[in-house]
Formats: sequence, C-alpha cells, structure tokens
Amino acid sequence: MKIKLISIGKELLLGETIDTNSVFISQQLSLYGIEVNKKIVLDDNYEAIKQAMNYEFVDADTLIITGGLGPTDDDVTKEAVCDFFESKLVLCDDVLQSISSYFQRRGKKMVSSNLKQAYFPEDCTIMHNPNGTAPGFIIEKDNRTAIVLPGPPHEMKPMFFSYVEPYITKRIGKKVFTTNINTYGISESELEYRLRPLVKQNEKLSLATYADFGEIRVRLSICDDKNDDVNELLSRYTIKARQFIGDKFVYGVDCDNMQSALVKLLIEKNMKIATAESCTGGLLSKCITDVSGASQVFECGICSYSNRIKEKILGVSPETLQKYGAVSEQSAREMSQGVLKLSDADIAVSVTGLAGPGGGTEEKPVGLVFIGVATRKKTIVKQCNFNMLNNKSRESIRRHSQLESMKILIDVINEQK
Ligand code: ATP
Ligand code: MG
Repeated sequence: MKIKLISIGKELLLGETIDTNSVFISQQLSLYGIEVNKKIVLDDNYEAIKQAMNYEFVDADTLIITGGLGPTDDDVTKEAVCDFFESKLVLCDDVLQSISSYFQRRGKKMVSSNLKQAYFPEDCTIMHNPNGTAPGFIIEKDNRTAIVLPGPPHEMKPMFFSYVEPYITKRIGKKVFTTNINTYGISESELEYRLRPLVKQNEKLSLATYADFGEIRVRLSICDDKNDDVNELLSRYTIKARQFIGDKFVYGVDCDNMQSALVKLLIEKNMKIATAESCTGGLLSKCITDVSGASQVFECGICSYSNRIKEKILGVSPETLQKYGAVSEQSAREMSQGVLKLSDADIAVSVTGLAGPGGGTEEKPVGLVFIGVATRKKTIVKQCNFNMLNNKSRESIRRHSQLESMKILIDVINEQK
C-alpha cells in the first residue's frame, strides 16, 4: 500500500493546534509495516482539498484524511472528497438516527446543520462515531481509496481502531491482537512514561492510551501475519505492563468501564452492595444500575441529601452531625455502616462532600469529599480533595466522587479474596 496522510483544518495551519493525528496514524501504520510516503496539512478549503487529491493520488493508492467533518459551513472535507470521486451525497437514515440519539442522550437539541452530517457519498462504507456526531467513511474507486476521519483525536482514535485498522490489516493480510488495561487515578503522560521501557524492549509491541474522564485505557497490540504464540506473548506483555503501571492504578483488563468492572466483580464474589449518597445525589446508584445484571448485586441506594434523612434512615448520630458536620470522616463512616445495616448487603459505600460551586469554607473547601466503604469486618473512609483538579465544576467533582468510590470498592472487594 502506498499511503499519504492529509490533515485538514485552519487551526493546524495557524499553529493553534498541533497535528497529532498524523503522528498517531503514522505510528500505527508502522506497526503494520507500512511507511507513510508523505504528509500534508491543508486549510478547510474545497478546491484545495480536491486539487491535493488529484495531485497526491498520482503516486499513492490510499489517502487517509482527518478533519473538517463537522456540521458547520467551513467543514467541507466530505463534499470535496465526494466530488473528487464523482459520487453523489445521499441521506443515510441510520446515521441520522444515531446523530439524533447522540443529542438525545446528552439532553441537547439537534440543530438543522447536523442534518448535513447524515449525508454520505453513495457506495461508501460509513464508520460510526460513538464519541461525536461526525461519522467517517471509506470510499474506493479505480484502485484509489480515501479513508476520511473526524479531526478531534478522541473521536478519530477509536474510529481508527474499530474500522481503519481492520480494513488495512485485511488488505495487507495481517492480524492485530489487542488487550486493554483499564486504569484510574494516573495521568496519561505518567502512564506513557512508566510504559516506555516496555515498548522500547519489544519492538513488536505497540501502545496507545485513551483518556475518558479520569479513566484511561491502555491498549497493547501486536500485529502479525500468523497466530502462533501471539496471544501468549500478549498476555506476558499484559502482566509486565500491569507491573510497570502499578496495581494501585489498574482496575481491570478488557473492561468497558469502571461500573461494569465493579458489577462483574460483585457477581463473581456473590456479594450485594448498597449505597448512601449525599453530594453525588444518586449518581453512583445510577451508574451501577446502568450495567445489565446489576439486579443480581444491587440491594438499595439511599439518596440521603438532608441531615434529617441521614439521621432518620441511616442512623447517623445527631452528635456526629452537630460536632463534625455532614461533610466529615465520621459522617461518611456512619452513613456507610447505616446503609449496610439497613440493607443487609455485604458491602456498602457512602459519599458526602461539597460539590460546589457555593458552600465552601476555608476549613472545608469545595471539592472536599469523604467516601466510606463498610463491610461486616471493617469500615474505611477516604478523604478526597477534588479541589486540586483542573476542572472543579460541580459535574466534575460529582463524577470524580463516583469514579473514586468505585475504585475503592473494587480494591476492598479484591482484598477480601
Ligand atoms: P467540528 O468542526 O465539528 O469540531 P470536525 O470533524 O470538523 O468537527 P475539526 O474541525 O477538523 O473536526 O477538528 C475539531 C477539533 O479537533 C479541534 O479541536 C482541532 O483542534 C482538533 N483537531 C483537528 N485536526 C487535528 C489534528 N490533525 N491533530 C490534532 N487535533 C486535531
Ligand atoms: Mg471543523
């Protein structure tokens, strides 16, 4: 395959955004033994894109293009590529449906400009985008292929792995073997730093990280033309990678997310869980019950927002609330023990904190959260200072409280054996 990369976007030319997409794609392709012949950066300009395609296809069979698939008028990539292939844009009903449900899920209204994103060249293969509204596509004609991906890296990378990698490896007769390590509580740069020696020692191994709100997935992969021993090699790398990362940060392997890892673990251990939530207002219960099979493990969730309910339902002592306040180590302890007793579950979790933006004091700033986990044997409470986060919004503090609680639960359950 003779491949060239085209990155599209004015912000890339202005130097406002660094073109990391082409770096990522080059690195991936080199794993399959493919060298990129040329890279270019273009403005969001219809004629410039068409002209470049005309010119670059002379000595290449495949162009991988990123950017300019958005809903606004300045996004013209799809139209230019369609025109180059002398194809016609047609409305794709299933894309329209998935765009409108993307908006529905976020409680936002779909505007008419998003309709533009549901039109695709006839005879192309559409690449769906679960992380945004702009799907990508692959179009082939007369031994020329254009693979077109959205610009935002968090949309482009998953699409690359779901569609482009299988497409390319099939064309060159190779296979890719992958394992994902799920982590929480460590930064992307720290992960890369810790794993660098492992990648250096093993040239067959490739590594990519994706961040999704505090959780980071590390994808280990090996590309080969035969199956022999590759799976075994990959499991050895996985064990090593976990050691390099540190078990403290790893919550699972090949999990969808933290909540599914937690529910899976509870099912495995035949344990039931209950929650007592204050500042997360039921988010934890919601996330646990989002996972199918949760009914086997979820006993109850008490959203004990007021002190009255903390006292009356959970049995937190009035003295504790008076002396230490609802946001305190003591209250978190009593809340988790209270809901454990009430529900007869095997493990219980409590969350109490200040999600802000108002209500903080010097002694108890916004972002201060206590998480309690109680079992029949012991109760632990962790103090979290989410005021150290870059994003201290109410939403972010609540999401981090939920993730941190789940991570502590997973650790406590694993310790129990
Ligand atoms: P939209 O315009 O609706 O955001 P799009 O699919 O048109 O979607 P772009 O406009 O190309 O995407 O890019 C959107 C975002 O992705 C911007 O934040 C941009 O900086 C980033 N981005 C685009 N191209 C690249 C690239 N080559 N490398 C890194 N980031 C990129
Ligand atoms: Mg754009």
